[in-house]
Amino acid sequence: MIQARTKDLTWNSKRSFKPAYFAGNDVLEVAHEGYKMYIDENALYGKTSYPSLFRYETEIIEMLVDLLNGPNNSGGSLTTGGTESNIIAMNTAREWAKKYKPEISSPEIIVPRTAHPSFEKGAKILQMKVVRLEKSPNLNVDLVSMEQAVNTNTVMVVGSAPPYPYGHTDPIREIGAITANRNLWLHVDGCLGGFILPFAREFDPSIPDFDFSVPSVNSISLDIHKYGYSAKGVSALLFQNKSHADYTRTSFDDWPGGLYSTPNLAGSRSGGAIASAWAVINYLGHEGYRDIVRALINLRQEFAVGINAINGLSMVGNPQTFQFAFASDTYDIFAVADGLSDLGWHIGRALEPKSIQLMITMSHKPIVEEFLSDLTNISKRVENGTIVSRNIGPVYANG
Ligand SMILES: *Cc1c(COP(=O)(O)O)cnc(C)c1O
Repeated sequence: MIQARTKDLTWNSKRSFKPAYFAGNDVLEVAHEGYKMYIDENALYGKTSYPSLFRYETEIIEMLVDLLNGPNNSGGSLTTGGTESNIIAMNTAREWAKKYKPEISSPEIIVPRTAHPSFEKGAKILQMKVVRLEKSPNLNVDLVSMEQAVNTNTVMVVGSAPPYPYGHTDPIREIGAITANRNLWLHVDGCLGGFILPFAREFDPSIPDFDFSVPSVNSISLDIHKYGYSAKGVSALLFQNKSHADYTRTSFDDWPGGLYSTPNLAGSRSGGAIASAWAVINYLGHEGYRDIVRALINLRQEFAVGINAINGLSMVGNPQTFQFAFASDTYDIFAVADGLSDLGWHIGRALEPKSIQLMITMSHKPIVEEFLSDLTNISKRVENGTIVSRNIGPVYANG
């Protein structure tokens, strides 16, 4: 195995801007130690056999509800990742809607152009239809089309905080104005921004209300294994009204094995991931996350100023998190991507507009200048025709 992995990318390489969440070696050590302590415990049996694990899960949910301004009766549970959180939110909305609209036979959800593909996966599994809006005018949610897309089959509407492509938070309050009074479930996909925006708001007044402070928000997903910095395998799904979790819980006892009751999709779950999450959240605390967010806002600013200063390049939109894109009106940005990639930089590519995507973490603090200097040189060579595009398209994940 040591041999086998020699050609692998180092996950937190300074030259990689693909998603990998590094907050410092101290944080990593805490995440690892927590994981290792519970590597063998199965969180499926938390309530019955491992009260400490059950306590961690309960406390994490309490802290997250607090972070996202949940009212007194809000709650939720942990899942194995953002995809599971979003799919369970869809299932909950569908079951909840059955009560109000029992006539619906083909439930639909409306998602902005930029929403994560996990909603498509959920629709496939749950036999629902996704109405994905066709456009993002000014990189924003097409609220007019969103409202027009509502029909008698609609059960749920999604907003992202923020969507993966631009890092600019959807107007959750305005989406809430569409769902309020229509008996539509409003889910906020905060998988990427859930651990950033509550802290970033202190420094960035452009960030709109995105959480339970908007009264029509029914559920929020947020990934602890992203900018929460825990080991992989843990996300949260929060409900404004915790009794709504009952719509999705599976409880069954009509077989010889006895009661099987779980809140989400997974049966056996890693105790390690939950312990890792609890350890990191308690280690960093509000102050710790806030300091990292402030440092990353400054780092993003260094990238943005440097990129905008290069002839022909400009930042896409107004990113509020640490995933952002830059594009060119004058030359082929994917040729620039090829040039960077030949120098060993791992960057993302995106469309609408065609752009290079970077996701930054504390790993990238030491390399801003080197990156900007390479980017300047390569952009010049694309401009004068000495680098041409190899026509490589964008890939988010191909697992
Ligand atoms: C990462 C992400 C997801 C999916 O999360 P996984 O943990 O990869 O399953 C969903 N929505 C957004 C906005 C994301 O960034």
